[in-house]
Amino acid sequence: MNSSKAYSAATEKSPLASTTIPRRDPGEHDVQIEILFCGICHSDLHSVRNEWSEFMPTVYPIVPGHEIVGRVTKVGSAVTKYKPGDRVGVGCLVDSDRTCPNCQAGLENFCPNLTLTFNSPDKHLGGVTYGGYSDSIVVDERFVLSVPSNLDLAGAAPLLCAGITTYSPMRHWGVTKGKKVGVVGLGGLGHMGVKFARALGAHVVVFTTSPHKTEDALRLGAHEVVVSRDANAMQKHAGSFDFILDAVSAEHDVNAYINLLRLDGNLTLVGAPAKPLAVSAFSLIMGRRNLSGSNIGGLPETQEMLNFCGEHNITSDVEVIPIQKVNEAYERLLKSDVKYRFAIDLASLKSE
Ligand code: NAP
Ligand code: ZN
Repeated sequence: MNSSKAYSAATEKSPLASTTIPRRDPGEHDVQIEILFCGICHSDLHSVRNEWSEFMPTVYPIVPGHEIVGRVTKVGSAVTKYKPGDRVGVGCLVDSDRTCPNCQAGLENFCPNLTLTFNSPDKHLGGVTYGGYSDSIVVDERFVLSVPSNLDLAGAAPLLCAGITTYSPMRHWGVTKGKKVGVVGLGGLGHMGVKFARALGAHVVVFTTSPHKTEDALRLGAHEVVVSRDANAMQKHAGSFDFILDAVSAEHDVNAYINLLRLDGNLTLVGAPAKPLAVSAFSLIMGRRNLSGSNIGGLPETQEMLNFCGEHNITSDVEVIPIQKVNEAYERLLKSDVKYRFAIDLASLKSE
């Protein structure tokens, strides 16, 4: 067994602090990775603070982080896809049952027995899995992704969650040239949603509660920006959207956006506020509108998304921070003060 430097939280009220965690020796199908960057997803914060206690209670200590990129340092004897030195990524999943219909279809993200990168039972070491706020990780090669060589590694890290979570529903619901697409919430997920919708050829409208993000939204690829607190500006778009991606992390009025859908339009929730959202039947029935959800993506589609990013030169706009600033970053995340994803430089763990 190896040990790895990491940052963990001991309780839902504790800050993240330096610790040491065990990592297994690589088995025959395993890849050992030196983690170089890890994005900070709002899901990390929800989990550290046990905000999803009803659905997935947090086991402490927790080491979050599921937007991992790094270099392969060692591979097991049966590994065929990777060799030491390769640039790789690990997202939200590190295992699944591999036999259920969803796994067979490459939709491991919907496997009933999936192992999340952190806070899932660890089949190898007991306890729970530990995520990417650490300097190394060992993962079965099936759950390791290849990062295109032209992509900046810090900017590529958020693709592993924010990227696939926004790419997958857009592909599923047919976002293409000529479609009018809304993105609600210009945070980590939202800014990736804007980049993908634009790259897929759609007409893109950002809805934000932060007027100061207008210029950035346009720079990121939006054709139009609506400050969602402006009722008149909202009304101008009533009944016009083919697809809306809702990436808001907190309680909000989802009906205000459902009302903007055209006949048969679709609003997909990817944001995961802890409390249920109230949905007006009238918003849905007046226009045969659809409300759906989506959770990250399967392994084949995650690789497809990374390759798409390689071809289109798409990365996340990141603010790189040392791990010692992680608690401050969480407070800024709560104030929607991030442009547009924090990426932890794990070299900073060396001084711990
Ligand atoms: P984030 O970077 O914090 O962005 C969230 C954005 O939501 C903020 O920047 C803000 O955008 C908007 N917002 C925040 N509070 C709001 C409020 N009270 N009312 C209206 N808008 C508000 O978070 P993220 O990492 O992108 O994650 C977003 C959500 O998706 C989280 O709940 C996360 O857990 C979830 N998630 C889901 C999946 C999945 O697979 N489904 C994967 C990853 C994350 P503006 O300033 O533009 O208004
Ligand atoms: Zn995430």
